[in-house]
Amino acid sequence: MENVTASNLLNLEFDEFDLELKKYAHENNVPIIFDEGLAFLEGIITLKRPKRILEIGTAIGYSAIRMHKVCSSEIYTIERNELMYNKALENISKANLEDHIHVIYCDALEAFEFVKNLEFDMIFIDAAKAQYLKFFDLYTPLLSKHGAVVCDNMLFHGLVEDSEGYQNQTRAVRGLIRKLANFHKALLENKDYKTSIYDIGDGMSISVKK
Ligand code: SAH
Ligand code: MG
Repeated sequence: MENVTASNLLNLEFDEFDLELKKYAHENNVPIIFDEGLAFLEGIITLKRPKRILEIGTAIGYSAIRMHKVCSSEIYTIERNELMYNKALENISKANLEDHIHVIYCDALEAFEFVKNLEFDMIFIDAAKAQYLKFFDLYTPLLSKHGAVVCDNMLFHGLVEDSEGYQNQTRAVRGLIRKLANFHKALLENKDYKTSIYDIGDGMSISVKK
């Protein structure tokens, strides 16, 4: 019998272009979503069938392209890094998805005006961790009824404030860990959303608007 591992239980299909994007990301240290996280995200999209998705943190367009392909959702995605923005445009055009995936070149904290008239069925937050709460507060007013917010990189490699490794971290990293812990708390205490945080990939959360 073939060896059954967690990763071949994910049942993700990658075409040649997906593999090319993954290769580019790994060679250039672009932190694209882990396979396990992607399987979770695609599962949510399969169930929810969002018409329109907002993504914060495009990088090279890998997750945007994958999310679109599940059920043809229209995607708005925000990226502040010029190199990443250009790479994303190039990849989205190679995939012939310019009419479906709109990349906004801007800091997400300043991009509200570009999307303020749109309603989103799902928001995927995958950018600078320290700002997750600000992103959440800024963009959730655009979420439709029973909309969902999914966040990546929620567990900071397993480090939490009271873990053994915490004290060995730099001041900056400790600050980030505290910010993430505050975000966890804010999500779990938010009565308008039902949130669960999972040890999937690099840590993923889903918050569903009640
Ligand atoms: N979602 C992508 C990976 C994103 S990596 C994928 O899985 O394929 C995180 C990206 O967020 C980086 O490219 C970084 O430049 C961008 N980013 C970080 N903070 C941001 C901000 N405040 N506004 C816009 N983009 C941001
Ligand atoms: Mg991520």
